Amino acid sequence: MNTRDLSANAPYVPGRGVEEVARDLGLDPEELVKLSSNENPFGPSPKAVEAAREAAESAHVYPKAAHADLTEALAERWDLAPEQVWVSPGADGALDYLARAMLSPGDRVLVPEPGFAYYPMSARYHHGEVATYPVEKADGFAQTADAILDAYDGERIVYVTTPHNPAGTELPREELVALLEAVDEETLVVADEAYGEYTDTPSAAGLLDEYENVAVTRTFSKAFGLAGLRIGYALVPEAWADAYARVNTPFAANAVALDAALAALDDDEHVERSVESAKWAREYIADELDAPTFESAGNFVLAEVGDGSAVAERAQQRGVIVRDTGSFGLPECVRVSCGTEEDTREAVETLNEVLADLEPGVEA
Ligand SMILES: *Cc1c(COP(=O)(O)O)cnc(C)c1O
Repeated sequence: MNTRDLSANAPYVPGRGVEEVARDLGLDPEELVKLSSNENPFGPSPKAVEAAREAAESAHVYPKAAHADLTEALAERWDLAPEQVWVSPGADGALDYLARAMLSPGDRVLVPEPGFAYYPMSARYHHGEVATYPVEKADGFAQTADAILDAYDGERIVYVTTPHNPAGTELPREELVALLEAVDEETLVVADEAYGEYTDTPSAAGLLDEYENVAVTRTFSKAFGLAGLRIGYALVPEAWADAYARVNTPFAANAVALDAALAALDDDEHVERSVESAKWAREYIADELDAPTFESAGNFVLAEVGDGSAVAERAQQRGVIVRDTGSFGLPECVRVSCGTEEDTREAVETLNEVLADLEPGVEA
């Protein structure tokens, strides 16, 4: 037998894992500086770790109460009804739930190019078709309603990433409002705020009372440091919030993740430290790296280095892992995640050595 035709479904290419690279280089993983996946360099909140340990003791029970508790806490935080909070396995899971709720076979979606790989993947998994709108490097990856609307042709879902991955730019609030006003009534705009904690721009969640065609996705993977637990959520308008019950996988997230997320949500100190440190690191990278960078509102910086894959490869040989953005359609760039102060300094120093070695006419 065969699967259905999956030829349009490109596999997701993650940043390389630290164990994998360490093995290749014959190094201890501890010796590597891994700044390739926008992970939290401080790890999870200690309170979340404690909650996860405790939850593990009850891992034989289906997570009904834990799901309700996290949903309630998020509803309170965002000043929404609990129905409007769609808890999911990672924000990626929320993207799936939204696609499942919106797409009929053959419906089209509009995704940013370059952009986050999972939007088109999720749409295709749900029998959707994919069109793209450009986020132009020539404009410093500026995001505007007009640039999206130029490409827009009545698609069922339009994905925007703010702050954008991998560029770091934002779609300003007035541009998002202009977009919501301009698209068809039956077009959902998904505002992906995976990096929302790192910016001072208010969340699009504030628009949910006024607009029925917007949904917001958020995650515990980045500022909360729980990427390994796969926990995130969507915030949706009241009008169709009850669709969740019809599209989610039963017990939408696991009990350990739910309890850890609930504890993490309460640890303001950990989030603040993570965000402040990322703000320092992105300034440091922009100031000290010997390559043009783009202003970032996230916990990473995109840098134009010439040959991204050569730079990433050579940096890796010296123990610093950054993201080669070839898979995003930006082979001339690398994306450097914000690390601890020590790791960020080391990464910039190593990258600068690599860049100097690679300069034209200089033999490496
Ligand atoms: C990291 C990321 C996500 C979600 O990650 P999860 O780990 O699935 O929560 C979503 N969108 C963008 C743009 C991201 O970079």
